[in-house]
Amino acid sequence: MVNADRAALAEADSLRVVVIGGGAAGFFGAIACARSNPAAEVVVLEAGPQFLSKVLISGGGRCNVTHACFEPSQLVQSYPRGHRALRGPFSRFQPQDTIAWFAAEGVLLKTEPDGRMFPTTDRSSTVADGLLRAATRSGVELRLRSPVSDVRHDGREFAVQLRSGQTLWADRVLLATGSQPSAYRWAAALGHSIVPPVPSLFTLAIPDPRLDTLAGLSVERGRVRLLSPNDGGSKKRQPPLEQIGPILITHWGLSGPAVLKLSAWGARSLHDSRYRATLQVNWLGEESAEMARDRLRLLKQANAKRAVSTSGPLELPKRLWQQLVFAVGVAPDQRWGDLPKGPIESLVQELVQGEFQIAGKGVFKDEFVTCGGVDLKSVDFKTLESRHCPGLYFAGEILDIDGITGGFNFQSAWSTGWIAGQAIAASDRPT
Ligand SMILES: Cc1cc2nc3c(=O)[nH]c(=O)nc-3n(C[C@H](O)[C@H](O)[C@H](O)COP(=O)(O)OP(=O)(O)OC[C@H]3O[C@@H](n4cnc5c(N)ncnc54)[C@H](O)[C@@H]3O)c2cc1C
Repeated sequence: MVNADRAALAEADSLRVVVIGGGAAGFFGAIACARSNPAAEVVVLEAGPQFLSKVLISGGGRCNVTHACFEPSQLVQSYPRGHRALRGPFSRFQPQDTIAWFAAEGVLLKTEPDGRMFPTTDRSSTVADGLLRAATRSGVELRLRSPVSDVRHDGREFAVQLRSGQTLWADRVLLATGSQPSAYRWAAALGHSIVPPVPSLFTLAIPDPRLDTLAGLSVERGRVRLLSPNDGGSKKRQPPLEQIGPILITHWGLSGPAVLKLSAWGARSLHDSRYRATLQVNWLGEESAEMARDRLRLLKQANAKRAVSTSGPLELPKRLWQQLVFAVGVAPDQRWGDLPKGPIESLVQELVQGEFQIAGKGVFKDEFVTCGGVDLKSVDFKTLESRHCPGLYFAGEILDIDGITGGFNFQSAWSTGWIAGQAIAASDRPT
């Protein structure tokens, strides 16, 4: 009906809803709207040849659907961008609701020890199939290979221009295009500010002899801290540019949960510095220099006759300890008993305050997202409706919202999609 003649549509009673983008947010929005207002005509336009393509490739093909964190105030802390705005949406649709929603569609989720939730089948296609089934059953019209080239609003209705030349007329439009640059342009033309998009969730390229030949080694609980770049004098709330957790040494530098979280919190400042910055690493987690000094003193007493390079702190991989020992100029056969104070102090520094120069950004193949997008100030988070263009709604990654890795990005897509869909369904058709 949305593509029928404009005059005929003006006569029609049902709400005409066009959802642009057949990803997680678009599907959730479309299904919520169609279920809540069965009379509405809901169409999903997907540019590509496949729906839910990111769901399918996500989580290494397993789809990390959400995170087992059920307290909204705690949940929002995993979002470097959007933590304040998501408070309300998460009090209405949070991981518990996601679990129940998918269970009702026959998609059961399981929790891994770190809190990530996956389908019990460990296959992302189970999630995509559940969404496709739900959309079809709810009467949502699904159109593939339908790239939208422009969206305009004439004050009363929306003209959704397809690249094919066809125009669809709609009462409500849900923009769920992910981080597609053209959609930012339409949103800007319709009165919204766009926070410049930059990548988030990446590994750090650190060419450093201390890390050479150590690829594959990991430290269970380390601390990474971004010493520079700083905030450039910004008065805005500063994210904690420090993270604690597992650190993984790669062929190019550093990765692992602590580094990925740091890349998310530091996404913008790292981008602005062209990914050149100083990273401080504490290989002993939260231990202070004093604690490390005491540990080395005890090691010296207990291992006086042994080589320093062969007996370091137990939790540190042996080869990493050896690299740190060599980095401070201690000979391979140097005994603990004869080690002077100077090198001990250098080892303390290497252990808890080692400095590494970041030379660039790597990729993290399991997940990456965009920091930036439609400015949250231009959106009413009770409905996800635009404050500037009535009838226009946003959901998912197009918004200036992104989470750390662990299922948080899909959760914001489910929550914002669901709320937008409900709100569209409940909105009155303009007369
Ligand atoms: C490799 C990878 C793995 C990931 N794994 C996880 C994970 O396990 N857990 C997690 O929480 N997050 C994960 N993410 C992040 C997650 O995929 C995104 O946050 C999420 O997909 C955002 O959903 P969305 O619907 O907003 O956007 P998208 O999923 O990007 O969907 C937008 C859709 O809109 C379509 N579109 C764009 N422009 C147009 C247009 N002009 N006309 C018509 N259609 C258009 C696109 O083709 C696309 O299908 C991963 C991301 C990547 C890249």
